Amino acid sequence: MFGNLKPQAPDKILALMGEYKADTRQGKIDLGVGVYKDPNGLTPVMRAVKTAEQKIWESQDSKAYTGLAGTQDYRDAMAGLVLGEAPADRLASAATVGGTGAIRQGLELLRMANPDMVVHVSDPTWPNHLSILKFMGQDFVEYPYFDNDTRGVDFEAMLDGIGRAKKGDVVLLHGCCHNPTGANPTAEQWEAIAESLEKTGAVPMIDLAYQGFGDGLDADAAATRMIAARLPEVLIAASCSKNFGIYRERTGILMALGEGGEARDLTQGAMAYLNRQTYSFPPDHGARIVSTILEDADLSANWKAELEEVRQTMLGLRTQLAEELRSLSGSDKFDFIEHHRGMFSRLGATPEQVAKMKADSAIYMVGDSRLNIAGLNRDSVPVLARAIVEAGV
Ligand code: PMP
Repeated sequence: MFGNLKPQAPDKILALMGEYKADTRQGKIDLGVGVYKDPNGLTPVMRAVKTAEQKIWESQDSKAYTGLAGTQDYRDAMAGLVLGEAPADRLASAATVGGTGAIRQGLELLRMANPDMVVHVSDPTWPNHLSILKFMGQDFVEYPYFDNDTRGVDFEAMLDGIGRAKKGDVVLLHGCCHNPTGANPTAEQWEAIAESLEKTGAVPMIDLAYQGFGDGLDADAAATRMIAARLPEVLIAASCSKNFGIYRERTGILMALGEGGEARDLTQGAMAYLNRQTYSFPPDHGARIVSTILEDADLSANWKAELEEVRQTMLGLRTQLAEELRSLSGSDKFDFIEHHRGMFSRLGATPEQVAKMKADSAIYMVGDSRLNIAGLNRDSVPVLARAIVEAGV
């Protein structure tokens, strides 16, 4: 029977990682997989995470099941982090297996509420959005997003695209640090997005995977908070993988803000039900690390300080790369790298140019020319800049 299975296309980014490992050239540069790396190329365990784990080890006296929606401590702490002042009467939430789990459970929840929905996703978007939607057999359409000339958001086209959503459809938005492009709407443009959603009656689903990686913890949540305050119904899928550096602990949360009252209780019940059907209780260790940090003023300050170092490191690399490219190319056409936010930038190179950079300079980036800024350090930035110009990007 297993012979009936069809071969699955390998994940392109994981395949690229394999190629990188096999490359024996000195000075090879990995700008592929979306994991933060410090200037030494390591993905460290954050200081506050280590301390929180120690505290948990010392004080935890049971590993019995928690609740189907995870612990209230974690859900409260995350509501505070993402929403600031969380409107408890409107909020239903459940811990999930990473941000990916939140996206999957969120889409399942929306489909239970409206089996006829169409999901609107940005073109491009994180490839897992598309693969989950396809796997679910869920109808979706793409709205224009990226302007390949300016490497910014093609906002007029985006607004026109999301304006086509019908009442009861879902518009999937990246709350900050758009993956894969790095291009994000301005605060004013976010207001226009909210106005469009109000007009059409489509429900926003916000994927927030990089809070704290762009302009700061609060700034990166500003669009999500504004939409949550303005729209009657909003779904948020947040991940702790990047900002707490706990990728493998699989820590995420699904939050739904609705009308409150009975609708809130129905939503909360549906979230617990969905968890039970999929994996029963969500993992606790990562969630407990997060709530331990956020509930402790000192640990929280320590975490925020380290996250800020991470953010500043990436911003510094963006500035350095843009400057190198300005002087090598004699033009400001690469300044978008400095304006992009988060871990990624889409360079706008052709697949041939991406292949040339790999062949000539051992620089590995995803075929759509998404590069992970955190894969760079002060020494490799000039190497990349030269390769970009030599490839004729
Ligand atoms: N959304 C986006 C846009 C992402 O880039 C990621 C991580 N690559 C996620 C969600 C989810 O991450 P995880 O499941 O590892 O928490």
